[in-house]
Amino acid sequence: MNTALKSHYGIYGGQYVAETLMKPLADMEAAYAKAKADPEFQREFHEILCDYVGRESPLTCCRRLSASLGGAQIVLKREDLNHTGAHKVNNTIGQALLARRMGKRRLIAETGAGMHGVATATVAALFGIPCEVYMGAIDVKRQAPNVARMEMLGATVHAVSEGSATLKDAMNEAIRDWVTNCDDTFYVIGTVAGPHPYPAMVRDFQSVIGVEARRQCLEKFGRLPDQAIACVGGGSNAMGLFEGFLDDPSVRLVGVEAGGKGLATGEHAASINGGRLGVLHGAKTMLLQTDAGQIIDTYSVSAGLDYPGVGPEHCLLHDTGRAEYSVINDDEAIEAFDQLCRFEGIIPALESSHAVAEAIKRAPTLPPETILLVNLSGRGDKDLASIAAWKENHPSAIDSGR
Ligand SMILES: *Cc1c(COP(=O)(O)O)cnc(C)c1O
Repeated sequence: MNTALKSHYGIYGGQYVAETLMKPLADMEAAYAKAKADPEFQREFHEILCDYVGRESPLTCCRRLSASLGGAQIVLKREDLNHTGAHKVNNTIGQALLARRMGKRRLIAETGAGMHGVATATVAALFGIPCEVYMGAIDVKRQAPNVARMEMLGATVHAVSEGSATLKDAMNEAIRDWVTNCDDTFYVIGTVAGPHPYPAMVRDFQSVIGVEARRQCLEKFGRLPDQAIACVGGGSNAMGLFEGFLDDPSVRLVGVEAGGKGLATGEHAASINGGRLGVLHGAKTMLLQTDAGQIIDTYSVSAGLDYPGVGPEHCLLHDTGRAEYSVINDDEAIEAFDQLCRFEGIIPALESSHAVAEAIKRAPTLPPETILLVNLSGRGDKDLASIAAWKENHPSAIDSGR
């Protein structure tokens, strides 16, 4: 069998799972390799992306924001305009199509901010497959509107109170469910993490972002962007964007991790910048962990970036220097959120605001012909309560006009 799928990225990746999951993973790898090479699978995938998600998503030039910074042009790839409001649906459609092809009768998923849960519940309704979503109890509270959405779409939401009651605990529960029910259940993972073949498969489904953006840049500007910037939680929207430009050495690839209250405080979610090598959720990768190897509770104002690991391919891109990874703290992300709202009339997700903040930092230092392409991974409606709460606790940020 020629799978053409890589199971490792340098020393990262692999399949560190219980013996019982080796066969389901092998079945999935074989089924996905076949589907990937099947023009009918690809045709149906792209037809749904077009007719249901509303692709392709446009590029938007941030004229007023760029002018206010006085440097490079900031250009957004508008994944916030997708049906369900973020990039995640690209991946859930791909995995649901694969689940149907494999004859699975039940979808399960983990979710942090709730966006992946909503995207999975959405395709479950679209394809008529029952769906159960595991979500940390703390996230159930701070992302209540998304819980209501999932339930409205017909999914069952399980609140997980174990551990820190956030994304990693939800993922543990989902894996436990899958071990028990793998015969009829397909586990839809929401990012480029987890055991092989998930990182490769999710990257492939999200690569539509980078492939479109590359072509759109050539059409609109007659050239490639100078930098492609995306936020990194697990790393799926970033891998999707990077995939379009990996073979273009002139394009700098920039991943942005969540610095929370600052790297030095220890309260952050920056796995590459602040973590060490370990194994989590079936893959060898960079992790936030104690000296004893216990996973550390992560923190970010943005629930979708609040994950202690990162996709293995990012670790390799970091080590080889093909991509660089910076850190944006809560206050910088909130300031970027405000600037995009006021200058461009776009309310970004808090996750995406980290990528916008990085571009805002870089733009003034660069000449005006420089193009900074930023992946606007999602819209911010889900975050309004978090932002109001943050501002209430940081009145000085409002006084200073932020
Ligand atoms: C989930 C989410 C992210 C983080 O996930 P990645 O896999 O790192 O892309 C970023 N932005 C939005 C809007 C999200 O919903």
